[in-house]
Amino acid sequence: MSLAPLPVSPLIGNDPVSPELRERLSAARKALGSRVLILGHHYQRDDVIDFADVRGDSLDLAMRASKTSGVEYVIFCGVHFMAETADILTPPDVQVILPDMRAGCSMADMADIDQVEEAWEVLTKATSKRYIPITYINSTAALKAFCGRHGGAVCTSSNARKVVEWAFTQGEKLLFFPDQHLGRNTCHALGIGLDDMLVYDPHNPHERAGGNDPKLYDQKKVVLWRGHCSVHQNFSPSHPDVLRSRYPGVKILVHPECQFEVVQKADLVGSTRFIIDTVKAAPAGTRWAIGTEHHLVNRLAQEHPEQMITTLAPFACQCSTMFRISPEALADRLEELVQGKASNVIRVDDETRRWATIALERMLDMRD
Ligand code: SF4
Repeated sequence: MSLAPLPVSPLIGNDPVSPELRERLSAARKALGSRVLILGHHYQRDDVIDFADVRGDSLDLAMRASKTSGVEYVIFCGVHFMAETADILTPPDVQVILPDMRAGCSMADMADIDQVEEAWEVLTKATSKRYIPITYINSTAALKAFCGRHGGAVCTSSNARKVVEWAFTQGEKLLFFPDQHLGRNTCHALGIGLDDMLVYDPHNPHERAGGNDPKLYDQKKVVLWRGHCSVHQNFSPSHPDVLRSRYPGVKILVHPECQFEVVQKADLVGSTRFIIDTVKAAPAGTRWAIGTEHHLVNRLAQEHPEQMITTLAPFACQCSTMFRISPEALADRLEELVQGKASNVIRVDDETRRWATIALERMLDMRD
């Protein structure tokens, strides 16, 4: 029986770059030669990722940044926290540039250092047992430094399991921020029951202890920050059911930033790199409904016409902040460098860098 092709979500940001703009980009790139390295995250629009020297997920790009030598500038086509991480991991004489300063991350914005310090005070007052703080890489440098100062680490979606296992060798309890879903999914996969986890709401004033009875911080094993990714949050538990009834045999492949109920219904769950590698390794004719950022899903569909690939949601789940990096902004930053100017340079102060480096090195030591 032949398989009907699956629909792919509408393409946004894949308009061909005009010949004039392509010429500007090529000329500036050529003039700068090996002085510049362009890193591009997999969720970037096609008309930007085409110009990246290296593509990857957060962990790949952090590792690449940590090995950078002999370049003057890293242009990071991603979001702000990724450029901060690159600045921490690159040698001090390398300048990291974000093409458009509006490219933030809604998840990273859901936890600021004052809120985390306040939560820490609530937790450490409530129990004498040791909490280990773990921050997802999708967070500000200040939170990474907080983890370095308090015996914790950074994790990515690729190595969250290893980092959480490590945390429980260091202390009895875990504070995981800013993504409650990655924390819940990872801890559950390690055999920790949902009833041993608690959500801390940073918008509940200090005197209300994150919305919980303070005694619970002594009793529960894991405290999850009330944060989420606005892209992956859009996949709902009904989507796997709809896709399975519509496309028999379809495999549901999702990112662990999706809600617990979605992950529980999936056939496979894993990081961006896992998703790419799984599709690459699958036989022709495999049907996939993928729960992650739609530029990546569309790119996989284009690169694997022998398979049938669609998004898990019936609408486009796009990272609208990453989308703010445009080919025009990239051309502007490159041309400025040709003229001897550098703007949108991301700099992490020395004290933050020192502590964040400790937490990031723990992450890199525990990579797969
Ligand atoms: S996909 Fe989600 S977590 Fe990733 S950069 Fe966009 S908003 Fe942040």
